[in-house]
Amino acid sequence: MPKAQQTVLEIDLGVLKQNFNYLNSKLNSKTKFLAVVKAFAYGNDATTIAKYLQALGIDYFAVAYAEEGVALRQAGVTVPILVLHTLEVNFDAIVDNQLEPNLYNTKILKAFIAFTSQNAIANYPVHIKFNTGLNRLGFGANDLDALKQVLKNTRSVKVASLFSHLAASEDLEEREFTLQQIQDFKVLTASVSSAIGYTPMLHMSNTSAILNYPETHFDMVRAGIGLYGYGNSKKESQFLKPIARLKTVISQIHTIATGASVGYNRAYKSTAVTRTATLPLGHADGIGRIYGNGKGFVTINGNKAPIIGNVCMDMIMVNVTGIACEEGDEVVVFDAETTSAEALAASANTISYELITSISQRVKRVILNEVI
Ligand SMILES: *Cc1c(COP(=O)(O)O)cnc(C)c1O
Repeated sequence: MPKAQQTVLEIDLGVLKQNFNYLNSKLNSKTKFLAVVKAFAYGNDATTIAKYLQALGIDYFAVAYAEEGVALRQAGVTVPILVLHTLEVNFDAIVDNQLEPNLYNTKILKAFIAFTSQNAIANYPVHIKFNTGLNRLGFGANDLDALKQVLKNTRSVKVASLFSHLAASEDLEEREFTLQQIQDFKVLTASVSSAIGYTPMLHMSNTSAILNYPETHFDMVRAGIGLYGYGNSKKESQFLKPIARLKTVISQIHTIATGASVGYNRAYKSTAVTRTATLPLGHADGIGRIYGNGKGFVTINGNKAPIIGNVCMDMIMVNVTGIACEEGDEVVVFDAETTSAEALAASANTISYELITSISQRVKRVILNEVI
């Protein structure tokens, strides 16, 4: 039986490379590849992942917030970095670190132009986002005239790209809606390009659109979840492989009598003599309380052991009745072979994105296959 010492998230860069190559193989050779490394590269390790992808020749990175981009620059990342959610308070950090802001409405566009002109900056690369139906961030058709007017009258910024984000690229039942988003994007971007007199890069596909809507590849794609090994569909998941394995260890085993309870609020009560294992992993590590009380599970020596009672801050207890195991044995929470993060997330009615980005910074990251 494999032994373990503590909770670790193993990150296999060799697998990351395979996923990158697979997604890249879907693209025309001229299409650029942007890797989305927001939220610690989806809970993995943004600087390690970004430096590895940089060595593989990635074209662009995206982060959600400026501070994430600053951390990449400090780690030695030199390729362009798009900040997806620009806030005015971050303008200094953006310019000081050569980050490229997404400007998504007239207010932030004008504020950034004012900032750059005050600092005597010309042709600063910016990205303009269109709202084509997600209704999250972006200029809409009604803003088009104002947008063109502002862009035509400034030399402070240069539009590096025009982009949009799909609302349901993983859901083929929403195909009609998606095709409308694509059509609207083409119309909006053609209008801006002709107004400013040059054609910025266009991009609108996330992982699912890379796979489901080749017509959205345009000049660049933006892949997040696929790089980390999840394809949002059974079909694609077989070609991608999760890069991360979350594993832990049995700290203690108890055999409890019928009617005994386990954990806070006595949420679990045994109906027979029960063997429990206590693991050093709790909601502060990213296994939320939603996984408690029989929903979530771990794998011990090849057997599924359900989480019993409430998830504690630093620990969970699992039912190991009938499972051959002892203190010190390794426990798999999710990995590529046993239980994917997608399957564990499904046990609590959520998605892989939420589970993997929740693994907190307290969990030790161990990098495998770092050599290219
Ligand atoms: C997070 C994000 C992505 C990446 O999406 P995946 O489904 O993880 O590939 C792409 N574009 C934008 C605007 C995002 O916010």
